[in-house]
Amino acid sequence: MIKDNINDVRNNIEKACANSNRNTEDVTLIAVSKTKPVSMIEEAYAEGIRDFGENKVQEIISKYDLLPKDINWHMIGHLQTNKVKYIIDKVCAIHSVDSEKLLLAISKEAQKKNVIMPIFIEVNIGDEDSKFGLQYSEVKELVDKALETPGIELKGLMCVAPYVDDPEENRQYFALMKKLSVDIMKDKSHNRIDGELSMGMSGDYMIAIEEGATYVRVGSYIFGERDYSI
Ligand SMILES: *Cc1c(COP(=O)(O)O)cnc(C)c1O
Repeated sequence: MIKDNINDVRNNIEKACANSNRNTEDVTLIAVSKTKPVSMIEEAYAEGIRDFGENKVQEIISKYDLLPKDINWHMIGHLQTNKVKYIIDKVCAIHSVDSEKLLLAISKEAQKKNVIMPIFIEVNIGDEDSKFGLQYSEVKELVDKALETPGIELKGLMCVAPYVDDPEENRQYFALMKKLSVDIMKDKSHNRIDGELSMGMSGDYMIAIEEGATYVRVGSYIFGERDYSI
């Protein structure tokens, strides 16, 4: 049941916050609804969830039209520059900014629509070939760029940690993300970065919270395994 799963996740978020002396209000649960039908999103909505994560432009557009307008849609997947225009006035944040080219495309479309787009810079924290995101050493340069780009609000950093059996294995990566974020914020010229951290998924969100996540993106635990064959 979606309702029970959401209750579990909320209880676990409270536990992880208690473990690390953090306020529950500082962690936003994003229910990742990619591939899942509108009816399931409505069930989660009925439980008070207002933040949903999607990774495909087309899916955001069609779900956006069918669902209540107080939903905060988070774009969490790889985004092509030519598709930014379709979602710029529909999503509350883009978590997957991984190049200057994409940053500038978002800026251009944001200015056209007269909006400020909140973004996260995606870090390939496990240094995996299969993953999108910047190398650790490239992050500061794009941060600097983002801070001087109009139409952009830099919320912070995002990562998709490696797929592991034991979530403890990812603690090192979440800690590294926190360190990178703190290092960046120490620089006075970076006082306009919000210092948010979008990290942690179904398997490892509790560890991510203990290490400083402010947004966790939980999909399969809430909605069940995804079927990509349909
Ligand atoms: C699918 C996805 C998630 C959710 O993954 P689960 O393991 O199902 O919780 C989180 N973040 C991103 C970027 C995703 O693509």
